[in-house]
Parts: sequence; structure tokens; C-alpha cells
Amino acid sequence: MLLELDLEKIRQISQRKENENYRFRSFLKGQDDEKIDRIVSRLHKELTGLIDCTACGNCCMKLQLSVTDVEINRFSAIDSVSPEDFRANFIEQNDFEKTLCLKDAPCKYLSDKKCRIYSDRPEVCKSYPHTHLSGFNSRTLEVIENTAICPIVFNLFEQLKRELGFRSR
Ligand code: SF4
Ligand code: SF4
Repeated sequence: MLLELDLEKIRQISQRKENENYRFRSFLKGQDDEKIDRIVSRLHKELTGLIDCTACGNCCMKLQLSVTDVEINRFSAIDSVSPEDFRANFIEQNDFEKTLCLKDAPCKYLSDKKCRIYSDRPEVCKSYPHTHLSGFNSRTLEVIENTAICPIVFNLFEQLKRELGFRSR
């Protein structure tokens, strides 16, 4: 499999390919959802074996982390502050998605590309980039956004185009 791992190149190529990626999204809508999930599941296994998240950390650098009330309580205990202080200092509401998230990116728990609270990290961190989940065709807007950030998603999307014989022009 052809692999691109340079994060800056991935960002630039994803921007350049934005129209192509939306055309591929339309192409995928005409495909069998279960077939796409089978291919994506195989590619996810291959790519997570080839790409080392501990040498990357780009999702923790670039994305604002969504959190639940339970996770806010856990974070405040880890930081030895009250949940109220933690909310006041580190949490904001995402008005578009109506969710709570950390105010800033990079995530405050990222250190030298590694998560300082790995065993206590939120569910969304454990699941990201979500390419192990079924229903790929229902998440392609999110996938296109993630192609610019995550080497697993970027390379999976490009390989999926190749395997399905998608022509970019
Ligand atoms: S909690 Fe850990 S895994 Fe989650 S975004 Fe922060 S640094 Fe990354
Ligand atoms: S999930 Fe993607 S962006 Fe996050 S550390 Fe792994 S390869 Fe990098």
C-alpha cells in the first residue's frame, strides 16, 4: 500500500483534494454499505499496524476534545481541582454540536506526543479515528474532515479510492 505519513503534506494534499473527496463521497453513496464496511475494516487493521499513534499525536494537537460530565469529574479529580473550577477554566460549549469540550487544542493532557492520562482518556479518544466502526458511509463528512488530520484516515481514504477504481477526473 502507498503510504503518506508527513503530517504537513497530508494537510496540504487533503485541502487540494477537497473537491475530489466530495465527489468520492457521492460515489460511495452508490456503493453497497456492507461491502464498504468490509473493505474499511480490513484497511483499518492494516493501517493501524503500520502507523504508530505514539509517534504522531496529531488528533490531540489539532482537535478540540469533546467530554461528558463524567469525564469532567474524572479530569478534575486527576488535576486535584473541583469540578466547578475545572469547568470554569477548561470547558466550553460547542454551540454547533451542543456538546461540552476542552477550550483549547492541543489537549492539555498531551505531552511530547503522548497522552499523560492514557488509561483515563475519554471514550472518544479511545475510538478515534473511528475507522473500526461500521457505518462508514454514514460518516463520510467527518471522514473528509479527518483526512487532513489523521494519517490513518488519509491513507485509508486514498486506498479506498484505488481499490474501488474511483477516477479522480
Ligand atoms: S485526553 Fe489524551 S488521548 Fe485524549 S485528546 Fe487529550 S492527550 Fe489525546
Ligand atoms: S489516531 Fe490518527 S491523528 Fe491520532 S495519533 Fe493516531 S495516527 Fe495520529
